[in-house]
Order: sequence, then C-alpha cells, then structure tokens
Amino acid sequence: MEYRKLGNTGLDVSVIAMGCEAFVEDNSRAKTFLDIAEANGVNYFDLFSPDPAARSALGEALKGRRDKFIIQSHISSVWKNGQYERSRDLDDVKAAFEDSLERLGTDYIDVGMIHYCDADSDWDTIKANGIVEYARQLKAEGKIRHIGLSSHNPQVAMRAIEEGDIEVLMFSVNYVYDMLPGTENVDDLWADEVYEGGFENMDPDRQRLYELCESKGVGITVMKAFAGGDILDEKLSPAGAALTPVQCISYALSRPAVATICSGARNEEQLMQSIAYCDATDEEKDYAESFANFPRVSWTGHCMYCTHCHPCPAEISIADVHKFMNLVIAHNESNGIMEGSEGFRVPDTEREHYRVLEHHAGDCLQCGLCETRCPFGVGIRENMKHAVKIFGY
Ligand code: SF4
Ligand code: SF4
Repeated sequence: MEYRKLGNTGLDVSVIAMGCEAFVEDNSRAKTFLDIAEANGVNYFDLFSPDPAARSALGEALKGRRDKFIIQSHISSVWKNGQYERSRDLDDVKAAFEDSLERLGTDYIDVGMIHYCDADSDWDTIKANGIVEYARQLKAEGKIRHIGLSSHNPQVAMRAIEEGDIEVLMFSVNYVYDMLPGTENVDDLWADEVYEGGFENMDPDRQRLYELCESKGVGITVMKAFAGGDILDEKLSPAGAALTPVQCISYALSRPAVATICSGARNEEQLMQSIAYCDATDEEKDYAESFANFPRVSWTGHCMYCTHCHPCPAEISIADVHKFMNLVIAHNESNGIMEGSEGFRVPDTEREHYRVLEHHAGDCLQCGLCETRCPFGVGIRENMKHAVKIFGY
C-alpha cells in the first residue's frame, strides 16, 4: 500500500480508502470489510451514513483496533424517521455527532466532515446556524482532530477553504466532472444535454480548486472516482470509451492535493479491485493514452500531470514542473495578479517544492523527446523556458 500526507493534517493515509456503502447496505459485513482493509494496509474510511445500525456494526468491528484506522465521519448527516437526512439544525447535528461517537465506541473522530454543501446559500446557513462554530468547538475539545467539508461544487468549496477552517475536502473527482462547470445540484452533471457537444479540457474552477487545496495544505479525499460506475462502461461513458478502475484511481490521484480515494465498494470483490491498484503496473495505471483517444473529448495543450512524457534525459520531473508552475500562476491569479504585472510572486511553499526537485526546468536540453510522448500536445519545451522565467532556474 502507498501512503500520502493528508494536506497539513500530519496524517499519513493509504491511497485507497473505504467508502461506507458496504457497511450501510449490509452492515453484517462490517467486520469482514475492516479485516480486508487491515490486512491490505487500508487505514482510512469515510462514514457519511447516520444509519444507527451501520454505526453500531462498525463500532463492533472496530473493537480492539481503533488505532489502526483514521476515521472521517460526517457532521450534519442525521437519522430521522428511519432514514438519512442532511440537516442544518444544530440540535439535530449535535445529537447525531454524539450518537456517532458512542456507536463507534470511540472518543474522537480524526476528520469531522461538514456534510454535503453544494450551494453558497447552504454554506451561509451552515455558518449562520452555528455548525462551523460547533466543529471548531469539537476540535478544541479533541472530539475531532481536523475539520473537513464534503462538496461537489468547486466554487462553494473554494469559498469555504478561503475562509480558513477547512483542513480536508471530500470532493467528487473523475474526468467527467472535471470537464464540467460547478453546479448547485450534482444531478445536473448527468443531464443528457450536458453531453451533446463533446468536451474540451478541464473546467478552470475545478483546476483552481485543486491548486488552491495544494497551496493551502488542504488534503483532498475523493468520492465518486468511478462516477457511479458509468465511466467504466463504454456504453454509459460520456467520452464514448471506458476506463478501468485502476485508470480512474490513477487519474484522481494525479490531481494536486489528492491523498486518498474512497472506494464506494459494495462488496468484497469491489474493494479488492480498488486495492489491486497498488499492484498494478505503470502501463495499467496510465490513463493518458485512453484519454487522448477518447472519441468525444479533447485535452489538447493542457498538462494532465500524467507523466506519460517521462523519462526525460535530463531527469526532469516534467509533470511536477508543470504542476508547480501552474500553482504559482493560479495563486497569483486568485489574488488578481496576472503574470508580468507588478506584484507577481512565487509563494514560499511552491518555491520550496520546486527547490527540492532533483532536476529543474533550467536543465532542459530542448531535445523534444518528451513532446513525442505527450498524448495531449503540450508544448513542453516552451513550458520549461516558462518555468525558468518564473522560478529563475
Ligand atoms: S506534459 Fe503531457 S505527457 Fe507530460 S505530464 Fe503533462 S500531459 Fe502528461
Ligand atoms: S525537451 Fe527538455 S524536458 Fe523534454 S525530454 Fe528533452 S530535456 Fe527533458
């Protein structure tokens, strides 16, 4: 299993995590799932469901091994009249959180995730109703270690992150969503008319969100990496071609700030398919060729951080150079400063990340070999010169 830092939380999380679909749909399997996870080094799981039976079953399965798992559990997800509800009522929210601790048999949650906010007005309500303040209080009491937010909308997520409390973002990451503008209703992302004209490149807000998270040290935990399974199926995929689960995971893990993919496995076999990512070959993980040949999608000229152009004879990590360069540009643009204008600067974090690369854009031999391998037609040689201009070497 591979592990990554979850933003600035100090947590080392397995790149494959568990969603809670299996626990919820058949909570008698909670122990089996945790056994599989533990045996394979999966140390992170998400529990959005307030279903009391699922929480109790998980608590039972966790007995004697709480310290083996990092738990992301949701604040604002409540159980009412025998079903799940997203609530902004502070009393309900508090009662549901205390219930969660009790049923899980623990006195702390690692990441307390403010649940499912996709609209600006909803974020306003969350704050006005004292839910952010409640999360701060839980953190001060040690009942949660970090504050998170789950969202599908890049604009709302960016706004919440800029306000400063959010340390972990649970976000829907797959190439289909990545090409579409944010919406307050996630179901709109699957409306038939959205897919009529084909696609071109990433939605700029989604790109900005990933870069913002990376530069602020906000770790991303991913949901919907398979877009509900549609992108695994040639007939259902909006691109007109299917990806494998390994390619979907590889794509999501290549977005800046992403630390782990919560696998919404509904059975043991599906969980093992996600864990199999760790044993996949580089060829199996490579999504670039598939993307470049999608009948209805164009990514021309846009660096996807896919590393398909590696290795470079000067040993430059071309994907990282692009990533850090884009982070610098995005950071400045988010402050209204365009490249070439007064005030444009390299933030300390990106300066340091770039410095520790073993080889830099200034080492580029301008041989052009990388460009013959890049499936997206990126002007790498010019971009290396561009990076030298920004970083100085
Ligand atoms: S330059 Fe092309 S091949 Fe290299 S990481 Fe970017 S998109 Fe991938
Ligand atoms: S052009 Fe530069 S970055 Fe590309 S392979 Fe040659 S040395 Fe490496």
